[in-house]
Amino acid sequence: MAKVESFTLDHTKVKAPYVRLITVEEGPKGDKISNYDLRLVQPNKNAIPTGGLHTIEHLLASLLRDRLDGVIDCSPFGCRTGFHLIVWGEHSTTEVAQALKGSLEEIRDTITWDDVPGTTIKTCGNYRDHSLFSAKQWCRDILDEGISDDPFNRHVI
Ligand SMILES: [Zn+2]
Repeated sequence: MAKVESFTLDHTKVKAPYVRLITVEEGPKGDKISNYDLRLVQPNKNAIPTGGLHTIEHLLASLLRDRLDGVIDCSPFGCRTGFHLIVWGEHSTTEVAQALKGSLEEIRDTITWDDVPGTTIKTCGNYRDHSLFSAKQWCRDILDEGISDDPFNRHVI
């Protein structure tokens, strides 16, 4: 089986919330794609319930694109502790952490249910499993901890 970087990370050594650069991949024509680990809660200590995580996912799809150039995809980890972010080109973890922080602040402070995209039977694969209340509570807790641009040494931006 192919070796995947994410499974070589020692999850007991990281200090969430943080942004970590996983890899920069280069295509045959020299285009670069970066993959980031947006870790919102501490692995094996916490996990965001699916309703809140799902709503954060739908909102980050738009809010990160508003703040960062070249966003391709942002998808939750199966362990429910954070997201993969895939982006064209290269960005510093500080820049990504700032975009994430601004997005979570907007969810916590200003987003209403009408702002959440894709919450109908036609536009979502599990439209009943959303919770903006939970999303806001988790964003508040994550922001209270502060988002570090370094996974191993706390450097809150
Ligand atoms: Zn959905």
